[in-house]
Amino acid sequence: MVKHIFITGGVVSSLGKGLTSAAIGMILERRGLKVSMQKLDPYINVDPGTMSPFQHGEVYVLDDGAETDLDLGHYERYTHAVLSRSSNYTTGKIYSEVIGRERRGDYLGSTVQVIPHITDAIKDAISAGVTPGSDVALTEIGGTVGDIESLPFVEAIRQFALERPREDVLFVHLTLLPFLRASGELKTKPTQQSVGKLREIGIQPDILICRTEQPMTQEMARKISMFCNVRPEAVIEERDVDFSIYQVPQMLVRSGLDRIVARHLHLPAEAETDLTDWNRMLDSMRQTTESIEIAVVGKYIELHDAYKSIYESLSHAGIKNQTRIKIRKVGAEELHAKGPALIEGVDGLLVPGGFGERGSEGKIRAIGHARETGLPFFGICLGMQCAAIEFARNVLGLKSAHTVEFAPETPHPVIHLMADQRNVHEKGGTMRLGTFPCRVRPNSLAGKLYGAELVHERHRHRFEFNNSYRAAFEQAGMQVSGVNPDRDLVEILELPSHPFFIGVQFHPEFKSRPLAPQPLFDGFIAAARDRARQRARKNDKPSQDNGPAAATPVLARPSPVAS
Ligand code: GLN
Repeated sequence: MVKHIFITGGVVSSLGKGLTSAAIGMILERRGLKVSMQKLDPYINVDPGTMSPFQHGEVYVLDDGAETDLDLGHYERYTHAVLSRSSNYTTGKIYSEVIGRERRGDYLGSTVQVIPHITDAIKDAISAGVTPGSDVALTEIGGTVGDIESLPFVEAIRQFALERPREDVLFVHLTLLPFLRASGELKTKPTQQSVGKLREIGIQPDILICRTEQPMTQEMARKISMFCNVRPEAVIEERDVDFSIYQVPQMLVRSGLDRIVARHLHLPAEAETDLTDWNRMLDSMRQTTESIEIAVVGKYIELHDAYKSIYESLSHAGIKNQTRIKIRKVGAEELHAKGPALIEGVDGLLVPGGFGERGSEGKIRAIGHARETGLPFFGICLGMQCAAIEFARNVLGLKSAHTVEFAPETPHPVIHLMADQRNVHEKGGTMRLGTFPCRVRPNSLAGKLYGAELVHERHRHRFEFNNSYRAAFEQAGMQVSGVNPDRDLVEILELPSHPFFIGVQFHPEFKSRPLAPQPLFDGFIAAARDRARQRARKNDKPSQDNGPAAATPVLARPSPVAS
């Protein structure tokens, strides 16, 4: 029988519930167990695919093409859980299923209601999220206990527990102990009230994880235990980490959480939680003194969550290359207005994916600067498309080259709509989504970095490189180094004459792990680090020019089209 852990949150949102859930999953895996991970989101959208990054942050794409909540990114980075469409349900998805059944007549004339029909559908969703063979299934409930829209989910997990033996279900509640600067103390009342809300619905949490910026005293733990009816040893402190979110599993193990979970769920008690390689990784991060700066030029730089997996992937590559990564977040529109001076002095440029024209000319300008000055460049999805536009305009001389996404009538559509997208009108879930194979040219830089000829990467886009321009690009020095073998779509572009200039149509950031960085990110950071070292050596000599122009300009071969 699979055991279930439900993780709810209280007091405020953004407590790091996704991260904590992922860390608990990881700790259990490190005790030799197989885990499933799932997130239930109370909003009405069927999935986050249609939501603005301002609302939701990054949309995380799974192998099967599901567009999901960014917390699933934490699950994949911390655990080996196999995630699929069933790993993320929203209120919208649950209701669509129930309404679909009602339209088919499956309810045989009964009145369809929140209890039992919606709650039954939620319970089915929880069971559907369990990967066969799992020992423990973790389900995180999004939102905050007490919200109107999360009520059916909390009610459903109460019923779910009632239908199973007590030792098969564990309730973890994450709360906040706010620190009042004026009185200089942590407050427990919000936690008490949040647990009160849960108990009103009939759920008694077994473990409380208290997020806090200051240490929680034993006396406070005792007080919380008494008021919330949770055993004192199960009131766990989760303090703000000092340098990396990867410290969270370590911290939870130090608080004894692994043993408390094992005891409650009657899991093998003698097992040890083995974090050896993880601890080694953290030690090495702590000892790293070298640092490089990477410019990320995008539309949503003020929102950390919009490019979450990209920032994570950069940090994974930094761990492997033993360098700290400083990120210079540059607004694409600002760069368009003020020019490449805004990325002066950085060691690498990354242009992430995106939708919509705003800021695109700034991205194109930044890429042109990187191409001409030998600055390592990594373009992802829209970033790769912008690199193609920049090359067509400034090397092939096709001044009006564009993507039909922003200029439907352009005479030079170097990026165009995929044939199977032309008659698609619905927005939700209709892009080229999920994992596709890519054949990599063996002697290319991408080929060397992957060390494999056939790789699999995740996609999320409607537009693609226009094959009519392929020969002209290749003759002018832009190599097509990755192609989809089934449809001959261009997936990777690179400039062999440049220290590192790679654009990819897919999203490699969804495949990077702290202990196994994605190979292209790894190569990008290694190139940026080499450049930083070279510059440092040059700067040591007083006679040298310290400016960014110190890099060797990379000139593409003359254009066969422009003349
Ligand atoms: N907007 C582009 C497309 O749909 C790029 C998408 C992306 O960067 N994810 O093709």
